[in-house]
Amino acid sequence: DAAMYAVKRQGRGHFRVYSPELDTRARDAELRRAVDNDELVVHFQPVVPLSGGPGLGVEALVRWNHPVRGLLMPGAFIDFAEETGAVVPIGEWVLRESCRQAAGWRAANPDAERLRLSVNLSARQVVQPTLVETIRDILAETGFPADRLVLELTESVILQPSEQTVARLNALREMGIGISVDDFGTGYAALSYLRSLPVTVLKIDRSFVAGIDTDPDAYAVAEALVRLAQAYKLQVVAEGIETAAQRSCLADMGCGYGQGYHIARPMPGDALAELLVSAGLGHGRQ
Ligand code: C2E
Ligand code: MG
Ligand code: MG
Ligand code: MG
Repeated sequence: DAAMYAVKRQGRGHFRVYSPELDTRARDAELRRAVDNDELVVHFQPVVPLSGGPGLGVEALVRWNHPVRGLLMPGAFIDFAEETGAVVPIGEWVLRESCRQAAGWRAANPDAERLRLSVNLSARQVVQPTLVETIRDILAETGFPADRLVLELTESVILQPSEQTVARLNALREMGIGISVDDFGTGYAALSYLRSLPVTVLKIDRSFVAGIDTDPDAYAVAEALVRLAQAYKLQVVAEGIETAAQRSCLADMGCGYGQGYHIARPMPGDALAELLVSAGLGHGRQ
């Protein structure tokens, strides 16, 4: 019903439509089209053991290669996609694409067989009744093994999980999939969910990593979070490591894994595959 919207002509052939609702619909349609038109890209950021042990991982992070605006970071579209629901097809695409690429690295390089792949899951995806089936299908289709996949959920997603959500997460866990609490510490700190949900990993938010190398109070808080993860017998990943000093502080605390610009930035899949080959990943395989 175009007549209901105020359309203002702005010079030759350019129109500007002043309707928040239409704007939302248009942006949502554009985003969903982007999925179908292969405009999304997935980058991978290494997650490394901090004390030299085995067990490299990567986190899949979506980008939008926008035809006009260039490469957009998730901050520019993920919250919006979460509001409209477009995050569901986006998330499914990221899962399929990252499993497909990671299965390729495994096929090309036996050392990559131990690689773990973490994929972010949005609140909207977790409440989908078809979630488990979708993930099972993607794993079957791509040949990526369930026990190498970790799903990252934020605390807000799992704050008050419905019975169905708990059942879904349990089903995924029973398939061998890992469940990670992302941005740990920034949510609502109701720790009871750590007992009721099949969580396997805590990811300490980068806001708790900043300053640990210069501020004793910040160090003490980060150390407490590491101890908390250990008390719950969970693996612990620190995100946002930007300096060598932060990295060594975390290693001293006994934090198992780390991720951050100091270690490696997110990169396209072909660069990551090269890194896997050059790093050898394992021991003595050519
Ligand atoms: P996240 O899951 O906590 O991912 C980590 C973010 O921190 C990434 O930002 C990464 O590039 C950034 N990062 C890594 N190391 C450092 C560091 O040393 N310093 C700083 N300042 N930042 C660092 P990115 O890629 O912009 O993603 C932002 C957020 O968007 C993610 O936070 C995640 O919540 C969301 N996101 C990304 N991809 C997806 C996706 O496929 N699905 C969903 N639902 N959300 C996604
Ligand atoms: Mg994450
Ligand atoms: Mg995070
Ligand atoms: Mg974060």
